Amino acid sequence: MNKEDKNQPESREVVIIGSGPAGLSAALYTARADLEPVVLTGMTLHGQASVTDIIENYPGFPEGIGGSELGQLFQSQAERFGAEIVMDQVTSVDLTQKPFQIITYGKQYAANSVIISTGAAHKKLGIPGEKEFTGRGVSYCATCDGWFFKDKDVVVVGGGNSALEEGLFLTRFANTVTIIHRRDELRAGVILQNRAFDNPKMRFIWDTVVTEISGQDAINEITLKNVKTGEEIIHQTDGVFIFIGHTPNSQLFSSQLEVDKQGYLEINKYMGTSIPGVFAAGEVADPNFRQVITSAGMGAAAAIEAVRYLEALHDPE
Ligand code: NAP
Repeated sequence: MNKEDKNQPESREVVIIGSGPAGLSAALYTARADLEPVVLTGMTLHGQASVTDIIENYPGFPEGIGGSELGQLFQSQAERFGAEIVMDQVTSVDLTQKPFQIITYGKQYAANSVIISTGAAHKKLGIPGEKEFTGRGVSYCATCDGWFFKDKDVVVVGGGNSALEEGLFLTRFANTVTIIHRRDELRAGVILQNRAFDNPKMRFIWDTVVTEISGQDAINEITLKNVKTGEEIIHQTDGVFIFIGHTPNSQLFSSQLEVDKQGYLEINKYMGTSIPGVFAAGEVADPNFRQVITSAGMGAAAAIEAVRYLEALHDPE
């Protein structure tokens, strides 16, 4: 099949689905193996890390680096070696036939190997008001929306690294930032905990969940329930930032590939999924580490294995 024939699927050795640290690292490695990979970016160019204000734990940047800047550097490095980054979204795949078929809004690809690096999405609370007020006071991204809450009082739901990191970022704008956590002990690492406890704008409400978000045009109050006593109170707030973990973006693949109970793609130690030639890297296959460095490492490993797979495919001897 000809790459230029518009009526036929475009043939590729490697199609990479997703453009976060895993996908772009896989692109770098497969590009350097002369495989001319295509990266289908999905909705979030450069992945979730790109909306992180500052990344302080990616080696090589002792002063930290902005998430969007790091994403752009990953992309530039992959492009330098011939990776093609295409702003398009995959709508369906057929991994049961070879070459694998990947259909996007824009076109169809026939790929000898696929690397899935579609990441994970923010979990929702699933409470009344959450959906209605999303974009009008409910947010899942402090870097994106923090500015709108200048001199306002906001709450952050969750007790992990994301909640504290994003909560600390919000203190640049907001008057107060109240962390609402369902236990009396934070899950976040000690460095972030200490920064949060030391910040005069941060408040904490323990053993508590949010059960409803209410208001007229914008949010003005939330209902809180103490999980130990069952007591319910109304808390006035202007904004609700929710950071309660992630669910893997594996829906497109879960009827064709093995997934675990939480929906993460099952992979072996060579990043291989249940179908030979289909590899996965980053948060779509990683419920444990979810760091930029680990996702990037998984992407590199998946690429190395894809190169080996393709060598064996084209030269079985
Ligand atoms: P996380 O570590 O899974 O924490 C989720 C938090 O939300 C937990 O405190 C959890 O409470 C709470 N939670 C979960 N479901 C809830 C619900 N339905 N209602 C109320 N609270 C709920 O998620 P994350 O903070 O997004 O972090 C994800 C991963 O990225 C982690 O591995 C983290 O280390 C990593 N990360 C690292 C950095 C960094 O290194 N600087 C920054 C951001 C994220 P419980 O504690 O009770 O379970």
